[in-house]
Amino acid sequence: MSERPRSFHRKATDDYRWNEVDLLPYKEDDRALFRAITRQTLFSDPAMNGELRYFEMAPDGFSTLERHEHMHAVLILRGRGHCLVGNEVRAIETRDLITVLPMTWHQFRATRGEPLGFLCMVNAQRDKPQLPTPEDIARLKANSAIAAFLNS
Ligand code: MN
Repeated sequence: MSERPRSFHRKATDDYRWNEVDLLPYKEDDRALFRAITRQTLFSDPAMNGELRYFEMAPDGFSTLERHEHMHAVLILRGRGHCLVGNEVRAIETRDLITVLPMTWHQFRATRGEPLGFLCMVNAQRDKPQLPTPEDIARLKANSAIAAFLNS
């Protein structure tokens, strides 16, 4: 039986870092395509079955195009960019909220020449992301807005 986490107050430091929160590689999965993105796990509590992470992309960086059964609730905390969720490419700005429903293709891109950072709420226990097949990519790129987004 693991000990309940103590409550804490971790001070924010400059440049979207928090005291005693490690700056981690985005993923261990080396099949996945991504660029210039980091991860910080801000909260993780087994009793809540929840985690809150902060991801940040440098300009022109992007997250993995993926889908999975678990959901995401995302709040843009820094900068602006674009995201693909399902069949929609959306311009996103600081403080916008985005919900990613189960088995929906999604990707975030720092397309505006500035960093894009977001908080992402997720289940602590979750299924492994699925990556698109070449056929999935072809199907997505049949939509010209999605093709332009994926090539940006
Ligand atoms: Mn995801």
